[in-house]
Amino acid sequence: MRHDMDLYEPSFEAIRSGAKTIEMRLNDEKRQKIRVDDLVFFHSRANEYDVLRCKVKSLRKYADFYELYPYYDKKVIGYSENEKADPADMYAYYRKEDIERYGALAIEVELLDDIYLCDGHMHLEYGPLNKEYALQFIEEGIRKGLDEVDILDHTHRFKEFKECYDHLRIYEKQDEWLNKPTKFCSSLAEYYDLIKEIRQLDLPIRVKFGLEVCYTSNTEELLKEILKDVKLDFLTGAIHSIDSILYDMSFSRELLWDIRDPDEIYKRYYEEVLALVRSGLFDRLAHPDQIKLLNIYPAYDLSETYEKIAEALKQKDMYGENNSGIRYRYGHHDLGTGEELLKAFGRHGVGIICASDAHKPEDVGTLIYENTLRNKEVI
Ligand SMILES: [Zn+2]
Ligand SMILES: [Zn+2]
Repeated sequence: MRHDMDLYEPSFEAIRSGAKTIEMRLNDEKRQKIRVDDLVFFHSRANEYDVLRCKVKSLRKYADFYELYPYYDKKVIGYSENEKADPADMYAYYRKEDIERYGALAIEVELLDDIYLCDGHMHLEYGPLNKEYALQFIEEGIRKGLDEVDILDHTHRFKEFKECYDHLRIYEKQDEWLNKPTKFCSSLAEYYDLIKEIRQLDLPIRVKFGLEVCYTSNTEELLKEILKDVKLDFLTGAIHSIDSILYDMSFSRELLWDIRDPDEIYKRYYEEVLALVRSGLFDRLAHPDQIKLLNIYPAYDLSETYEKIAEALKQKDMYGENNSGIRYRYGHHDLGTGEELLKAFGRHGVGIICASDAHKPEDVGTLIYENTLRNKEVI
């Protein structure tokens, strides 16, 4: 069995360094399920996608933390050389009456690695919104050895967001696209029902549910109004259009790329990305440099823009994606988000989430391992 736990930075780093091998917890109902040889994934509270994967070596129960402390060297339970180990410190985490009720648990762990494989972006868009179809994505994730899969359909699947796309209908091709049967065909209530069903299953990997929200600065107020009632694990904001023109469709060349100067397109794209981040509506930024999909580049240097985006993401405590869709869906030479932008994320301490942007079950997990290693190089 697998258990996910959050850890504050000092304890997290002490486990990473090998100094701390005992995690102390309240022995409540949740912890009573832990067994020797189970896996414990420690998520950093500063970045939940910075994860230490550990194996449980032993478990010892005590009446309380006063009984537990004398059995261990202070460094092994997470104190540094110059700190005093005081069992009263545990009152910062647990109430006295809970400790008296449940007792304390010492979990001895062995660090396996810090490679947490998360595919943070996949769509049920081309199939029904039901358990069987969702399980095809989840099972593919399990087969590929992932630790987490995150499902996030586009807002253009849901009736509730229909009005947010009206501005795109000024072009006939976009109007046709929005009239396809896969658009606005489901309701959020149906999505919530599916989520409830999946949550009842005992799955060996973590599964989260969110939305990929098509953001534009001119629909921000409308989105704010709709999103205030949305209850999901996360919201990913994405820029798919510039001045009401989609940039990533088969018809985008004639509507956009053949008409406008790349400098202007890039400038407008990144202005919208910045507005998205600054709107404060989202937890994650989707495919941050997807505008490069056709291998058309501006004449000006983007490094200043990248700095600004990284800075804004950090300020809003948002994650940026490293999305491999750019490689296998659009045939770009990058494996995901470009090196320079990833490095800017790293410099500013922005959390990075890997994402496949799978639209079919078999694409789940594509290049996730490779991009996870790329992320490690910049943090
Ligand atoms: Zn997208
Ligand atoms: Zn997507």
